[in-house]
Amino acid sequence: MSLIQNPVPWPNGARCAACFTLDMDAESLLYLAHPQTAHSMASAASMLRYGPDVAVPRILDTYRHYGIRQTFFVPGWCAERYPYAIEAMVRDGHEVSAHGYLHEHPNEQSDEGERYWLRRSLAAVQSVTGERSPGWRAPLYRFSHRSAEYLLEEGLSYDASLMGDDVPYLIDTPRGPLLELPSHWGMDDWPPFMHSSELNFEMPIQSAARAWEGWWEEFEAMWECGGLWIPVWHPFLSGRLARWRQTHLMIRKMLDRGGVWFAPLRDIAAHVQGCIAERTFTPRTERPLSLPHALPSADQDTRP
Ligand SMILES: [Zn+2]
Repeated sequence: MSLIQNPVPWPNGARCAACFTLDMDAESLLYLAHPQTAHSMASAASMLRYGPDVAVPRILDTYRHYGIRQTFFVPGWCAERYPYAIEAMVRDGHEVSAHGYLHEHPNEQSDEGERYWLRRSLAAVQSVTGERSPGWRAPLYRFSHRSAEYLLEEGLSYDASLMGDDVPYLIDTPRGPLLELPSHWGMDDWPPFMHSSELNFEMPIQSAARAWEGWWEEFEAMWECGGLWIPVWHPFLSGRLARWRQTHLMIRKMLDRGGVWFAPLRDIAAHVQGCIAERTFTPRTERPLSLPHALPSADQDTRP
């Protein structure tokens, strides 16, 4: 059964590609939400610092155990504050890509503001990894109508902020197409695990097994149809003991099934670009958003 019209020919006949993307936001979220008082929110800060200090070493251990390399997205401020966590990721051959500077939202910036924070984010990540960021994920998926063009301007090879397909697709811009590696909220760990009054996101917390029920359904569908399975997770949430233990067991189950290509998004992007060049994969192309000219504004309302 193939419910995907244009599946990607994955390497070595793999049924699907998979990449755990872990967004190491740490306390950037708290400083963004509460610039004046974040320093006195000790408990919320400790929950977030669990990411770089406890979860990241655990996550890296699991990847080493299974011999897989994956992707971390890191705000520039977090790279500067926790260089040891980023250095450990790089040492093990994982991809580290940029994710804002202080987790600011690109679509709430001015034209120049978005460009400034993008460049500052890229420079901060590069200052620790020693390499240009291969890709990008907008903080809280807040990709703007300018973002695709700005990312191409900076030479990035892919974006991972959007939700428009089950397989990679292209975003058309005046500078050419940007490759999108999509995921969606069903693959995000905030809905099942996040609970914080300080960050105004209070969900009934699910067990790891229950959360994995949904992620496993997504995996089976992608495996069967040739898709791309990208969890959008956070070390401070999914790296918690019982949750990561469950993930450690589930990776074993995925590897035992076979036909899964675990790779960092930078490698998946390079493979997909190769397939597009060889015409073995034809992605959909989307146009970026523009102003809704068809909608009347309040002062043009001509109703009697
Ligand atoms: Zn984030």
